[in-house]
Amino acid sequence: MPKFVMPTVAEFAFFRAELRRINFKETPVREIRKEVERIGFEMRWPKSDQEVGFTYYENGLTVRVWTSWLEAEGRARDRDEDSGWILICQDGKLRYAREPFHRTKNFLRNLAFWAWIGQTRAINRPPCPKCTLLFPDGKRPFMDIATGPQNPRCRYWRCDRLERHEEGKYVRADWDIGLSPEQKAALAPHRRKRERQYELCRAQGKEPCAALLARKSWELRHGIFQ
Ligand SMILES: [Zn+2]
Repeated sequence: MPKFVMPTVAEFAFFRAELRRINFKETPVREIRKEVERIGFEMRWPKSDQEVGFTYYENGLTVRVWTSWLEAEGRARDRDEDSGWILICQDGKLRYAREPFHRTKNFLRNLAFWAWIGQTRAINRPPCPKCTLLFPDGKRPFMDIATGPQNPRCRYWRCDRLERHEEGKYVRADWDIGLSPEQKAALAPHRRKRERQYELCRAQGKEPCAALLARKSWELRHGIFQ
Protein backbone atom coordinates (compact mmCIF):
# COMPACT_ATOMS: atom_id res chain seq x y z
CA MET A 1 0.00 0.00 0.00
CA PRO A 2 1.51 3.38 -1.01
CA LYS A 3 2.34 5.81 1.75
CA PHE A 4 -0.47 7.91 3.26
CA VAL A 5 0.07 11.61 2.54
CA MET A 6 -2.24 14.26 3.92
CA PRO A 7 -3.02 16.91 1.28
CA THR A 8 -2.29 20.48 2.31
CA VAL A 9 -4.70 23.42 2.50
CA ALA A 10 -3.00 24.98 -0.54
CA GLU A 11 -3.32 21.74 -2.55
CA PHE A 12 -6.99 21.50 -1.69
CA ALA A 13 -7.56 25.14 -2.65
CA PHE A 14 -6.00 24.39 -6.04
CA PHE A 15 -8.15 21.26 -6.45
CA ARG A 16 -11.30 23.21 -5.56
CA ALA A 17 -10.45 25.96 -8.05
CA GLU A 18 -9.82 23.33 -10.76
CA LEU A 19 -13.17 21.62 -10.21
CA ARG A 20 -14.98 24.95 -10.21
CA ARG A 21 -13.14 25.94 -13.38
CA ILE A 22 -14.52 22.88 -15.18
CA ASN A 23 -18.02 23.70 -13.86
CA PHE A 24 -18.43 21.23 -11.01
CA LYS A 25 -20.75 22.60 -8.35
CA GLU A 26 -19.80 22.36 -4.71
CA THR A 27 -22.43 20.25 -2.97
CA PRO A 28 -23.02 19.77 0.76
CA VAL A 29 -21.95 16.26 1.68
CA ARG A 30 -25.26 15.64 3.49
CA GLU A 31 -26.98 16.04 0.11
CA ILE A 32 -24.62 13.55 -1.50
CA ARG A 33 -24.96 11.21 1.47
CA LYS A 34 -28.78 11.27 1.22
CA GLU A 35 -28.61 10.47 -2.48
CA VAL A 36 -25.99 7.74 -2.06
CA GLU A 37 -27.94 6.08 0.77
CA ARG A 38 -31.02 6.15 -1.43
CA ILE A 39 -29.21 4.38 -4.28
CA GLY A 40 -27.83 1.82 -1.83
CA PHE A 41 -24.12 2.38 -2.32
CA GLU A 42 -22.18 1.01 0.62
CA MET A 43 -19.38 3.03 2.10
CA ARG A 44 -17.97 4.16 5.38
CA TRP A 45 -19.66 7.44 6.12
CA PRO A 46 -18.07 10.37 7.82
CA LYS A 47 -19.69 11.31 11.10
CA SER A 48 -19.78 15.01 10.33
CA ASP A 49 -21.33 16.95 7.48
CA GLN A 50 -18.26 19.04 6.88
CA GLU A 51 -16.76 16.98 4.10
CA VAL A 52 -16.58 18.71 0.75
CA GLY A 53 -18.28 17.20 -2.32
CA PHE A 54 -18.77 18.27 -5.93
CA THR A 55 -21.44 17.49 -8.52
CA TYR A 56 -21.67 17.86 -12.27
CA TYR A 57 -24.85 17.18 -14.25
CA GLU A 58 -25.08 16.73 -18.01
CA ASN A 59 -27.23 14.69 -20.44
CA GLY A 60 -29.10 12.91 -17.64
CA LEU A 61 -25.91 11.80 -15.86
CA THR A 62 -24.69 13.09 -12.50
CA VAL A 63 -21.00 12.85 -11.67
CA ARG A 64 -20.42 12.98 -7.91
CA VAL A 65 -17.06 13.58 -6.32
CA TRP A 66 -16.21 13.58 -2.69
CA THR A 67 -12.96 14.35 -1.23
CA SER A 68 -12.72 13.32 2.44
CA TRP A 69 -11.66 16.94 3.02
CA LEU A 70 -12.93 18.46 6.27
CA GLU A 71 -13.56 22.13 5.59
CA ALA A 72 -13.61 23.38 9.18
CA GLU A 73 -10.48 21.49 10.16
CA GLY A 74 -8.48 22.26 7.02
CA ARG A 75 -7.44 18.62 6.54
CA ALA A 76 -8.53 15.36 4.93
CA ARG A 77 -10.02 12.59 7.01
CA ASP A 78 -7.60 10.21 8.62
CA ARG A 79 -6.17 7.19 6.91
CA ASP A 80 -8.77 4.66 8.04
CA GLU A 81 -11.76 6.96 7.81
CA ASP A 82 -13.13 7.08 4.29
CA SER A 83 -11.41 7.87 0.97
CA GLY A 84 -12.07 9.95 -2.11
CA TRP A 85 -14.79 8.67 -4.43
CA ILE A 86 -16.24 9.29 -7.88
CA LEU A 87 -19.66 8.01 -8.84
CA ILE A 88 -21.81 8.37 -11.94
CA CYS A 89 -25.58 8.11 -11.51
CA GLN A 90 -28.16 7.78 -14.24
CA ASP A 91 -31.89 8.26 -13.63
CA GLY A 92 -31.18 8.34 -9.90
CA LYS A 93 -29.41 4.97 -9.99
CA LEU A 94 -25.76 4.28 -9.37
CA ARG A 95 -24.15 3.08 -12.58
CA TYR A 96 -20.45 3.59 -12.01
CA ALA A 97 -18.20 3.80 -8.98
CA ARG A 98 -14.53 4.41 -9.45
CA GLU A 99 -12.46 2.48 -6.90
CA PRO A 100 -11.76 4.50 -3.75
CA PHE A 101 -8.91 6.96 -4.00
CA HIS A 102 -6.32 6.56 -1.29
CA ARG A 103 -4.71 9.65 0.19
CA THR A 104 -1.32 9.11 -1.35
CA LYS A 105 1.03 11.70 -2.82
CA ASN A 106 -1.09 12.34 -5.92
CA PHE A 107 -4.50 11.96 -4.28
CA LEU A 108 -6.04 15.28 -5.34
CA ARG A 109 -4.42 15.19 -8.74
CA ASN A 110 -5.87 11.70 -9.34
CA LEU A 111 -9.29 12.75 -8.06
CA ALA A 112 -9.35 15.82 -10.32
CA PHE A 113 -8.26 13.73 -13.30
CA TRP A 114 -11.01 11.11 -12.80
CA ALA A 115 -13.59 13.84 -12.17
CA TRP A 116 -12.63 15.32 -15.53
CA ILE A 117 -12.85 11.87 -17.19
CA GLY A 118 -16.31 11.31 -15.65
CA GLN A 119 -17.43 14.71 -16.83
CA THR A 120 -16.17 14.03 -20.37
CA ARG A 121 -18.14 10.77 -20.43
CA ALA A 122 -21.30 12.64 -19.35
CA ILE A 123 -20.80 15.37 -21.96
CA ASN A 124 -20.25 12.73 -24.67
CA ARG A 125 -23.04 10.35 -23.66
CA PRO A 126 -23.83 8.90 -27.08
CA PRO A 127 -27.25 8.94 -28.70
CA CYS A 128 -28.26 5.53 -30.01
CA PRO A 129 -27.22 5.38 -33.68
CA LYS A 130 -29.82 2.69 -34.51
CA CYS A 131 -32.99 3.93 -32.75
CA THR A 132 -35.95 4.69 -34.97
CA LEU A 133 -37.47 6.56 -32.03
CA LEU A 134 -36.85 10.26 -32.56
CA PHE A 135 -37.71 13.16 -30.28
CA PRO A 136 -39.66 16.13 -31.67
CA ASP A 137 -36.35 17.98 -32.09
CA GLY A 138 -35.10 15.15 -34.34
CA LYS A 139 -32.61 13.83 -31.76
CA ARG A 140 -32.19 10.16 -30.92
CA PRO A 141 -32.44 8.91 -27.32
CA PHE A 142 -29.28 8.46 -25.28
CA MET A 143 -27.62 5.13 -24.69
CA ASP A 144 -27.36 3.90 -21.09
CA ILE A 145 -24.40 2.95 -18.93
CA ALA A 146 -24.27 -0.85 -18.85
CA THR A 147 -22.16 -3.25 -16.83
CA GLY A 148 -20.23 -6.25 -18.12
CA PRO A 149 -22.19 -9.46 -17.51
CA GLN A 150 -19.34 -11.10 -15.64
CA ASN A 151 -17.37 -8.22 -14.26
CA PRO A 152 -19.29 -5.28 -12.79
CA ARG A 153 -16.22 -3.10 -13.24
CA CYS A 154 -16.47 -3.25 -17.03
CA ARG A 155 -18.61 -0.54 -18.54
CA TYR A 156 -19.99 0.17 -21.99
CA TRP A 157 -22.86 2.12 -23.51
CA ARG A 158 -25.97 0.16 -24.49
CA CYS A 159 -29.43 0.83 -25.90
CA ASP A 160 -32.10 -1.69 -24.88
CA ARG A 161 -34.90 -0.39 -27.10
CA LEU A 162 -34.99 -3.58 -29.14
CA GLU A 163 -38.36 -2.74 -30.70
CA ARG A 164 -36.79 0.46 -32.06
CA HIS A 165 -33.85 -1.29 -33.72
CA GLU A 166 -34.27 -2.70 -37.21
CA GLU A 167 -32.38 -5.89 -36.36
CA GLY A 168 -34.10 -6.22 -32.98
CA LYS A 169 -30.74 -6.40 -31.19
CA TYR A 170 -29.00 -4.47 -28.45
CA VAL A 171 -26.80 -1.64 -29.66
CA ARG A 172 -23.52 -1.19 -27.87
CA ALA A 173 -20.84 1.49 -27.93
CA ASP A 174 -17.40 1.78 -26.45
CA TRP A 175 -17.19 3.27 -22.94
CA ASP A 176 -14.39 5.62 -24.02
CA ILE A 177 -16.39 7.30 -26.74
CA GLY A 178 -15.66 11.03 -26.80
CA LEU A 179 -12.47 10.89 -24.72
CA SER A 180 -9.58 12.83 -26.23
CA PRO A 181 -6.33 11.11 -27.28
CA GLU A 182 -4.72 12.83 -24.28
CA GLN A 183 -7.28 11.37 -21.89
CA LYS A 184 -7.00 7.90 -23.42
CA ALA A 185 -3.22 8.04 -23.16
CA ALA A 186 -3.54 8.94 -19.49
CA LEU A 187 -5.91 6.00 -18.93
CA ALA A 188 -3.62 3.52 -20.67
CA PRO A 189 -1.37 2.70 -17.68
CA HIS A 190 -4.46 1.97 -15.54
CA ARG A 191 -5.81 -0.27 -18.28
CA ARG A 192 -2.52 -2.12 -18.52
CA LYS A 193 -2.58 -2.71 -14.78
CA ARG A 194 -6.10 -4.10 -15.09
CA GLU A 195 -5.05 -6.27 -18.01
CA ARG A 196 -2.29 -7.73 -15.86
CA GLN A 197 -4.87 -8.54 -13.18
CA TYR A 198 -6.98 -10.29 -15.80
CA GLU A 199 -4.02 -12.28 -17.02
CA LEU A 200 -3.48 -13.39 -13.46
CA CYS A 201 -7.13 -14.49 -13.33
CA ARG A 202 -6.69 -16.45 -16.55
CA ALA A 203 -3.55 -18.09 -15.21
CA GLN A 204 -5.66 -19.28 -12.29
CA GLY A 205 -8.25 -20.68 -14.68
CA LYS A 206 -10.88 -17.98 -14.11
CA GLU A 207 -12.68 -16.03 -16.81
CA PRO A 208 -11.86 -12.39 -16.07
CA CYS A 209 -14.34 -10.40 -18.08
CA ALA A 210 -16.24 -11.57 -21.12
CA ALA A 211 -17.52 -8.07 -21.87
CA LEU A 212 -14.07 -6.63 -22.14
CA LEU A 213 -12.86 -9.44 -24.34
CA ALA A 214 -15.88 -8.96 -26.60
CA ARG A 215 -15.28 -5.24 -26.99
CA LYS A 216 -12.98 -5.63 -29.97
CA SER A 217 -15.67 -7.40 -31.92
CA TRP A 218 -18.19 -4.59 -31.28
CA GLU A 219 -15.66 -2.16 -32.62
CA LEU A 220 -15.41 -4.16 -35.80
CA ARG A 221 -19.16 -4.70 -36.14
CA HIS A 222 -20.34 -1.15 -35.61
CA GLY A 223 -17.47 0.88 -36.90
CA ILE A 224 -18.55 3.82 -34.75
CA PHE A 225 -15.84 3.61 -32.17
CA GLN A 226 -12.74 5.64 -31.72
ZN1 LIG B 1 -31.50 2.35 -29.67
